Amino acid sequence: MPYDNNNIFAKILEKSLFTEIIQENEFTIAFKDIAPQAPIHILIIPKGKYIKYDDFLDKASQKEVYSFFMLINQLVKDYNLEDSGYRLITNAGKNANQEVPHLHFHLLAGQNLGKM
Ligand code: 5GP
Repeated sequence: MPYDNNNIFAKILEKSLFTEIIQENEFTIAFKDIAPQAPIHILIIPKGKYIKYDDFLDKASQKEVYSFFMLINQLVKDYNLEDSGYRLITNAGKNANQEVPHLHFHLLAGQNLGKM
C-alpha cells in the first residue's frame, strides 16, 4: 500500500492544517490528540512519510528512528512521568483499526489508565 499524501498528519506536516507542536526535533514532531483519551494524550510522528511501525523500521535511517524514540523520552521527562507512569501505543493496520495512515505513537498519562 503506498503512502497516502492526503492523510491528516501529512497535512499537519506540510502546515496546511494548523496544530500546535509541543515538541520537535530534526526528524520528529509531537502534538496533542484532538480527542484525548486521558489527561495527557500526545501523538508523536516522524516527519518522513512512513505508514506504520514496520514501514518506519524497514525504511527510516537509524538517526530518524533514534530521534523518534528520544523525542518520546523527552516528553516523558517534560511531563514528569518517570515515576507516575505512562502508556505508549501504536496502532498498525487493519486489525488495530489504525485511523491515520502515518506512523504515530500515542503517549497516554495523567491518571491510572486501567488494564489494557
Ligand atoms: P489511530 O487510531 O490511527 O491510532 O489514532 C489516530 C488519532 O489521531 C486518534 O486518536 C484521533 O483522535 C487523532 N486525530 C485524528 N485527526 C486529528 C487531527 O486533525 N488533529 C489531531 N491533533 N489529532 C487527530
